[in-house]
Amino acid sequence: MSWQQALVDNYHADQRAIARRVVSELAPLWNLLDPHDLKGTTAQWLKAVRPVIERGILLSQYVAGEFYQRYRTAHHPEAEPLGIDFPDPLGVFTDQVIPDRDTRLRIMVAQKVTGPVWVAKHSLPDMTPDDINELMYKGFSKSTGSAIRMVMNSARHTMALLVESDPLAKGYARIAGQTACGDCKAKEGVYLKTDSDRKFDWGSVGHDFCRCVIVPIFGEISTESDN
Ligand SMILES: [Zn+2]
Repeated sequence: MSWQQALVDNYHADQRAIARRVVSELAPLWNLLDPHDLKGTTAQWLKAVRPVIERGILLSQYVAGEFYQRYRTAHHPEAEPLGIDFPDPLGVFTDQVIPDRDTRLRIMVAQKVTGPVWVAKHSLPDMTPDDINELMYKGFSKSTGSAIRMVMNSARHTMALLVESDPLAKGYARIAGQTACGDCKAKEGVYLKTDSDRKFDWGSVGHDFCRCVIVPIFGEISTESDN
């Protein structure tokens, strides 16, 4: 395995761990929702899940930024550092760091729509307790998928932004991983700055549950795309 591949694999593993961590933190909070009183319990559930997703978004951005710098320096040890630092949400002095208002709103809307609103829409009057449990499980899964998308998109968008603004980067490679769906496998590959804006942006977006990452390309374009 090349050193590039090792760095990239490590980075992908780090991002997958962030997604897993978010899921494990969200799981117990789902119990705050009472299936018989969704309207009355949604607010307290949202209040609890929001900071978990916010932390995930910031952490995946921070890890993406750190990887970018390390990977860049490995390819171009002579180059001046980019000098772009993202806040570490787990750092000592960053208790107050939160994403911008837009992101916070999007978290709330997406969670509400894929969680309690989805459950309410699919509730039937004659459901057995087992039916309700199953429906609640599906609602949890849906809202978690949405959370993973937001957290992982944060890393992908950060990476695309850095690539765009860094003269040393030629583009990025999208990597799906072994358990990815067919759509994601098909999206794997190289996206260059010389591609259309539409294609360049499209390559950095993921669907619910998507754990694909993108990594910058410095110099030799074929390396990452072979895998
Ligand atoms: Zn994916």
